[in-house]
Amino acid sequence: MTVKDRVALVTGGSRGIGRGVVEALARGGAKVAFVYNSNSAAADEVVSALAAEGHEAWAIQADVRSKEAADNVIEQVVEKWERLDILVNNAGIIRDGLLATMDAQQWQDVIDTNLTSVFNFCQAVTRQMMGQRYGRIINMSSVAADVSNPGQANYAASKGGVEGFTRCIATELARRGITANAVAPGFIETDMTSAVVSAAGAEIKKKIPARRLGLPDDIAGAVMYFAADESSYVTGQVLKVDGGLTLGGL
Ligand code: NAP
Repeated sequence: MTVKDRVALVTGGSRGIGRGVVEALARGGAKVAFVYNSNSAAADEVVSALAAEGHEAWAIQADVRSKEAADNVIEQVVEKWERLDILVNNAGIIRDGLLATMDAQQWQDVIDTNLTSVFNFCQAVTRQMMGQRYGRIINMSSVAADVSNPGQANYAASKGGVEGFTRCIATELARRGITANAVAPGFIETDMTSAVVSAAGAEIKKKIPARRLGLPDDIAGAVMYFAADESSYVTGQVLKVDGGLTLGGL
């Protein structure tokens, strides 16, 4: 799958799944910028680890919840590399709580970070990609869009929104050579899941037919498929990458 010489932007690229995606794109020969929010040490680590391998990555601090910040990031990338071929909307958070006690801020933080951010960056990049008549947009969903977990109404709503949004923009952008797809990970070992994995990792593994938790590289592989030149006829799709978790087997 080819991403060589493409220009890519990954939100939430400093840690976890986003880091795996940044590394895969850079190793595939793309020029990669990524957004992080506050953890500059983690972001610097990604840049220097890739530089040591001879790959270029560029860390940009921005809050994906802000439309203005998204416009600004896209502008910076296009100014530096003169195009933007691949956008991976990966930044996301959880703020779990049962509906009866969830406060409005818990709801809003998750919707803004996981869903509004996707609108912000997709809209900001559309004009550039339409002008190029080429683009690959990959949005990070979750199996939580389909599978019900008590305490995750905000998160499920955000990811269900991401999937509907992705299908809709796919129909709008297809004639311009732009695809939009989503990846829906199952349980992946990152900072986001570390608490629940320490508390119940063994139980979780028993529910996964593959009998292991996923790794950021498992998700990066799926993102690379949608990001590649060769996937031009695949759009509006959601690919679950979950080791069989949602298959409903015995
Ligand atoms: P993670 O390890 O917690 O990393 C989150 C990343 O998002 C970090 O780079 C963080 O930047 C960035 N970020 C968070 N809020 C931001 C904001 N307001 N502005 C800019 N960047 C922000 O998370 P992860 O587990 O890799 O998850 C990545 C994506 O996959 C999320 O969309 C998540 O919902 C989805 N997902 C994860 C799993 C899983 O099992 N891990 C399963 C399904 C879906 P800082 O380093 O600066 O904080």
